[in-house]
Amino acid sequence: IISIVAASGILGGTLLVFADAGQQAPRLTKTEAVAEPENRKKKVVVLGTGWAAISFLKSLNSTVYDVQVVSPRNFFVFTPLLPSVTVGTVEARSITESIRKIMRKKKNVEYCQATCVHIDSLNKKVLCRPVVGCPEAVKGDFELAYDYLVVAVGAEPNTFNTPGVEQHCHFLKDVEDAEKIRESIVDCFELADLPIVTEDERRRLLHFVTVGGGPTGVEFAAELHDLVYEDLYKLYPQLIDYVNIVLIQSGDHILNMFDVRISEFAEEKFQRDGIDVKTGCRVLEVQEKAIVMKDKSTGKRIEVPYGMVVWSTGIGTRPLIIQFMKQIGQGDRRLLATDEWLRVKGCENAYALGDCATIEQRKLLEDISYIFTLADKDKNGTLSIQEFKEAMEAIRSRYPQIDLYLKRQHMKDVVRILDHSKGDQKEKQHMKDVVRILDHSKGDRKGKQHIEIEIEKFKEALSKVDAQMKALPATAQVAAQQGEYLAWCFNHWEKCAAHPEGPLRVRGEGRHQFPPFVYKHFGQFAPLGGERTAAELPGDWISIGRSTQWLWYSVYASKQVSWRTRALVVFDWTKRCLFGRDTSRM
Ligand code: FAD
Repeated sequence: IISIVAASGILGGTLLVFADAGQQAPRLTKTEAVAEPENRKKKVVVLGTGWAAISFLKSLNSTVYDVQVVSPRNFFVFTPLLPSVTVGTVEARSITESIRKIMRKKKNVEYCQATCVHIDSLNKKVLCRPVVGCPEAVKGDFELAYDYLVVAVGAEPNTFNTPGVEQHCHFLKDVEDAEKIRESIVDCFELADLPIVTEDERRRLLHFVTVGGGPTGVEFAAELHDLVYEDLYKLYPQLIDYVNIVLIQSGDHILNMFDVRISEFAEEKFQRDGIDVKTGCRVLEVQEKAIVMKDKSTGKRIEVPYGMVVWSTGIGTRPLIIQFMKQIGQGDRRLLATDEWLRVKGCENAYALGDCATIEQRKLLEDISYIFTLADKDKNGTLSIQEFKEAMEAIRSRYPQIDLYLKRQHMKDVVRILDHSKGDQKEKQHMKDVVRILDHSKGDRKGKQHIEIEIEKFKEALSKVDAQMKALPATAQVAAQQGEYLAWCFNHWEKCAAHPEGPLRVRGEGRHQFPPFVYKHFGQFAPLGGERTAAELPGDWISIGRSTQWLWYSVYASKQVSWRTRALVVFDWTKRCLFGRDTSRM
């Protein structure tokens, strides 16, 4: 079978012929490249149709590029509402939008439904495979050449290699997962209601377990509780006493990435609702009908029978990214490292954003260290607070995001490290004062002018911070902002090449072409069921309760990718209020 792919812009003049497409690993033969016009548009290949990719594509001025999108999923999913899909609060199709529809008004954007299976960064090509289900005639891998590659393939569930997870657990990463969970819940109830089922078996079948006390696991447990006590209890009143919802968390608290007040409120609410939160437990194995775990405090082995398990313990790396990292010398990493401009380290013209990548700040710390070395010249290793502040200003002018990284997080980490270290009290006090001054606290400023900073110690502490530096969270918010940022860079490419807008180079002359990516945190929600939501808002504001639930409704409705999904989601919420959730097994 021979298939020729030369569709509009896909290869931009390169003709590829694929032979033996039916075989497992089809051979690729590249024929002569058609001569390209000199002023051809640069080819941008975008891998993925998730938060990062869609945000990039929506903001990109595609008239100046030839854009090729590759993804096995021909639609965008509004993932924050996936837990609602698992119980039928909203329908799967209400939170998905076709990529072709999203892009229909964009010029020069092509989409092909395929999975990228290999990135060849040396030859600037990606190898793609049509998704399963293609007719024989179009089977076979194909190559796409690029000038710029945007990698936004997201992540996959992390099982931590726990035996039995792949075979027996549900994941909650995509719409298919949510729909399977929805069916499985109904199956458990229907099976438990069969007359042939024993009492013990009935109890086991209605034992629902969620592993992972992060936002997704907590939200799923809350949604399940609402489904059972708002809808299913009317349909299966005889089974309600058998229902048990368990949330297993290896840490000491659930929602531990949120403010402690939210985490405590969630734990108390779950206790009142009868959701059994088991903290400090690590799952050792998932068997066909039971979860085996270890209580970390007592070391005891516990076996919990289950009817259904949802595994939600964070994200792992996709095989494509692992392979790519090995190729570019990042084999020892967990996520693809980029610099603050989202450029993949060790690879030209490739950008990575969203859950598959992480911004590595090592250079930032190196630069800070370097600036302090300059400030320290002829100062015998000590700076007055004024000199320290001047050095900080120099850093700020180069790294506008420094306040986000240094003041709020790193400086606190510096203090924490010094607190844990056996350094003397004076040294700790110095660091704390520095932090307070940088935090613009109201303390006695006069006294602090005399403080001297021992630069070597400061740098030492910074290098320890480097090892502990936290990556940005893997959220839609980060992915979407990165997509928008990268599109801005692509849209200003020529302008910024002539007139760079980035910070001054620390070493070397002139400015960087673009300002670095700066993440703005707009807060985060944790829906806890029963029409109550907790929210961490900018400025360390906490809001919990029914009014926050209304804020959640309005934010999530406004953030929908299209008017169609917005209308459908609002319709689903209204429908649920009026008629309850649909619990039929389709
Ligand atoms: P994704 O959105 O996962 O997109 C990855 C894309 O790459 C997909 O289109 C996929 O089909 C495609 N792809 C995969 N492999 C390949 C390949 N080999 N070749 C080409 N394409 C490929 N974040 C929040 O901020 N707030 C929330 O409330 C929130 N709730 C969540 C609830 C759930 C249940 C889940 C799962 C996540 C939630 N998140 C939330 C996190 C958020 O969804 C992710 O951080 C976000 O989706 C990351 O965006 P991304 O573009 O990197 O990846």
